[in-house]
Amino acid sequence: MTRHIFVTGGVVSSLGKGLTSASIGMLLERRGLTVRMQKLDPYINVDPGTMSPYQHGEVYVLDDGSETDLDLGHYERFTSGPVDRNSNFTTGQIYQTVIEKERRGEYLGRTVQVVPHITDEIKRSIRSLASPDIDVVITELGGTIGDIEGLPFLEAIRQVPLDVGKENCLFIHLTLVPYLKAAREAKTKPTQHSVQQLRTIGIQPDILVCRTERAIGREHTDKIALFCNVEKRAVIEEVDKEFSIYEVPLGLVDHGLDELIIEKLGMQAGPLQLDDYRQLIHRIRNPRHEVTIAVVGKYIEHRDAYKSIYESLDHAGFSHSTRVIAKRVEAEDLERQGAEALLKGVDGILVPGGFGMRGIEGKVLAAEYARENNIPYFGICLGMQVAVIEFARNVMKLEDANSSEFNTDTSHPVICLLEEQMEIEDKGGTMRLGTQPCVLSEGSRSLQAYGTSEVNERHRHRYEFNSRYREQYVHAGMVPVGTSPDGTLVEVVEIPEHPWYVAVQYHPEFKSQPHKSHPLFAGFVEAALAERQTRPRQLV
Ligand code: GLN
Repeated sequence: MTRHIFVTGGVVSSLGKGLTSASIGMLLERRGLTVRMQKLDPYINVDPGTMSPYQHGEVYVLDDGSETDLDLGHYERFTSGPVDRNSNFTTGQIYQTVIEKERRGEYLGRTVQVVPHITDEIKRSIRSLASPDIDVVITELGGTIGDIEGLPFLEAIRQVPLDVGKENCLFIHLTLVPYLKAAREAKTKPTQHSVQQLRTIGIQPDILVCRTERAIGREHTDKIALFCNVEKRAVIEEVDKEFSIYEVPLGLVDHGLDELIIEKLGMQAGPLQLDDYRQLIHRIRNPRHEVTIAVVGKYIEHRDAYKSIYESLDHAGFSHSTRVIAKRVEAEDLERQGAEALLKGVDGILVPGGFGMRGIEGKVLAAEYARENNIPYFGICLGMQVAVIEFARNVMKLEDANSSEFNTDTSHPVICLLEEQMEIEDKGGTMRLGTQPCVLSEGSRSLQAYGTSEVNERHRHRYEFNSRYREQYVHAGMVPVGTSPDGTLVEVVEIPEHPWYVAVQYHPEFKSQPHKSHPLFAGFVEAALAERQTRPRQLV
């Protein structure tokens, strides 16, 4: 029988519900259980694919091409179970399914209502992950208790214990216990209100995880237990972590959360295997080197917009006992102030993915600066496209070379639309999405990093390297070293003359884990480290 854990959040958003859910998943896996993770997002968009990174942060792409919430990134970084399109549902998807069923006449003329039709569809989504070989499904509910959009989801998860048995379900509520400086005291009232609201809906949380800036102590957690009708030992404080998000699971273990969950769900589990993880945390806390990597983007002030990029850089650092300092550079500032002003002294330059015209010329300048100054360069998706554009303009002397995304009239569309994409007007899910195979050439840095010539990586783009220019590039010194297996699509380019200049059309940042850094990120940070050691720079 699959058990269900529901994780809800109260008081405020951005409490790190995704991280806590992922950490719980990891701890249960490390007790030998088979876990599946899932996120329910109450917003009406069908998926985050068309949402602005300002609003929603990064769009996280899965192997099957689903464009999902960035919390799925935490799930993949912390746990090992597969995630696919059943791992993320939004209100938009739920309604779309119900409306399609209604149009097909599947409701046999009945009035279609939120309860039971929408709630049944939500429950079906939750139960879609349960199967005899899965011990636990962890379902995280997006948003905060009190949001209007969240109500049908709360109603649905309230009903799940009626369907599968109360003893097989567990409700974990994450709240904030703020510390008021003026009163010199931690305040429990917001948590009490949030739990009250949950109980009004009919959900009594079994475990409370209280996020706090500083330790709050037993007195407060006991009070919360009393007022929220929760066992004292089931009120767990989760204090902000000083070094790294990867410490979160250890904090939860210190409070016995894994044992509590296993006991409350009546499960048989093995001992907790954390030795290698504790070693990883030790490495994270005690780096021996440091490098500065400039990340040149256009949503740069919004940290979540490049979430997986920063995480992958950190992972690469962990594997080299190196603290990676990401210097966030706004591409438009680069256009205004010039590359030298913002990039001088960095040990590596990374240009991540992106869409639209704004900041493009700044990114082109970054690629040029890296190429000319022998600074390790890692281009990802749009970061590859700007590298290709820059090389055409400045080395191949094709002056107005561009991507047809940014200039439809360019005489040299070195990046252009795939034939099959030309006709499409719908914006959602119309890109080249999900995992595609790629074959790497002998002697390339990429092959050296991966250690294998056949790789599978995730894509999310419309435009491609224009194969008409391939020979010209090779001749001038930028070599396509990775292609689709049939050789038609260019997926990786490198400049062999440069210490480390690798640009990929896909998104390696979606396949990096803290204990298993992505090979290209590891190669990039290693090159940056070498660069720093041979030529010590003054940071500006
Ligand atoms: N805008 C570019 C394209 O559609 C790059 C996309 C990306 O970086 N994810 O091809």
